[in-house]
Amino acid sequence: MNAPTTELIKQHLIDPEICIRCNTCEETCPVDAVTHDGNNYVVDASICNHCMDCISPCPTGSIDNWRVVSKAYSLEEQYSWEELPKQEEVAAAAGEGGAVEALEDEVSKLLEEARKGLGGKPVAPHSASKPTVNLYNRGKLAVATVTGNFRLTDAASDTDVRHIILDFGDQPFPVLEGQSIGVVAPGTDENGKPHVARLYSVASPRGGEKPNTNNLALTVKREDKGVCSNYLCDLPRGSKVEVTGPFGATFLMPDDPAANIIMICTGTGSAPFRGFTERRRRAMPDAPGRLLLFFGARRPEELPYFGPLQKVPEKLLGKYFCYSRVPDQPRVYVQDRIRSEMAQIATLLRDDKTHVYICGLKGMESGVDEAFADACRAASIDWSSVKPRMRESGRYHVETY
Ligand code: NAP
Repeated sequence: MNAPTTELIKQHLIDPEICIRCNTCEETCPVDAVTHDGNNYVVDASICNHCMDCISPCPTGSIDNWRVVSKAYSLEEQYSWEELPKQEEVAAAAGEGGAVEALEDEVSKLLEEARKGLGGKPVAPHSASKPTVNLYNRGKLAVATVTGNFRLTDAASDTDVRHIILDFGDQPFPVLEGQSIGVVAPGTDENGKPHVARLYSVASPRGGEKPNTNNLALTVKREDKGVCSNYLCDLPRGSKVEVTGPFGATFLMPDDPAANIIMICTGTGSAPFRGFTERRRRAMPDAPGRLLLFFGARRPEELPYFGPLQKVPEKLLGKYFCYSRVPDQPRVYVQDRIRSEMAQIATLLRDDKTHVYICGLKGMESGVDEAFADACRAASIDWSSVKPRMRESGRYHVETY
């Protein structure tokens, strides 16, 4: 219980029920106010300056929480939480009627600005549909049934990537292309705590794998000792899975059929782009906007959706596959392939209807950025001013891990 004082403060907090412990907030915070232990990610009230830099990058929105308090919650208190405490009745105790409302208004304004992307932070494309977020959390889980679990990579390959279909039956679970869900593996971690939800991008279009079905697909790579990936990859049809989400309010597809979309991914980072491609194919097959996919994998046998992608017509999707480990072949990465398509890329980057999405390994971010800069330089375009403009208008999106 907080001891009343006369001064009220607004404290930034992270919801432990929604947080997936991805470390993005800690990496983003410019003043090192975010820290963690084996249980929770927390904000140190004595350091946090409410700059809001951490708000947009958080994939789940767990970071969007504030309480007006008379005494800040300590790190120790926050580490012990299983759920956020409710807003306390502090106004009367502090003898400051109206002060709570004033602080809450201030917080709302700051959050709104952060979401609008002031300062070049990511925002959703203007034409994107409005997403539903945080419908389910640890305290209120959705339970899905596995209705499909197919291997996507060649049987002879060591890489086991799977297409897993989860059906939600009569529970509402609306998702948009580009959103993610959390999956809670059964059992406990090394501290005896329930596993935190692991985040997976939705790999199907809104409306389900087949039109008007209440299901969605995930692209899951079996990781050595991976708790959730092994759990999911081994699930037979009919299994029940606990799910949180949906999450994500910015890495969304523009609904404008004239939008050009340049998609760049490695490995399972292709998941959202399957959703994007299927959405275009289903809802606007004759859209005038171009879809381009730059997709990096070690070998064709390890490229998720290799077979199905071959059948997507070039008119709908321009495909640029790159392989880094084909014997006797030079290593080719997505950034190399972008360079070999320089002229086309520069033309698209000149167009205000072009959107860029990058998803997959964190390491590729800088290489892709340099490739775009090279393409622009060759066409006398100033990438250093184009990129921030694209970000601020919701046309440049990065989701890497
Ligand atoms: P991977 O198989 O390890 O790598 C795919 C390709 O990326 C390989 O050809 C690799 O080349 C290449 N690569 C490595 N470093 C690179 C760099 N700096 N620049 C460009 N290419 C580079 O990929 P993965 O294991 O599937 O990993 C995909 C990533 O996507 C993971 O980090 C995952 O967390 C993330 N992700 C997954 C989902 C999902 O829903 N499952 C969604 C979003 C993001 P080398 O031969 O040099 O290794």
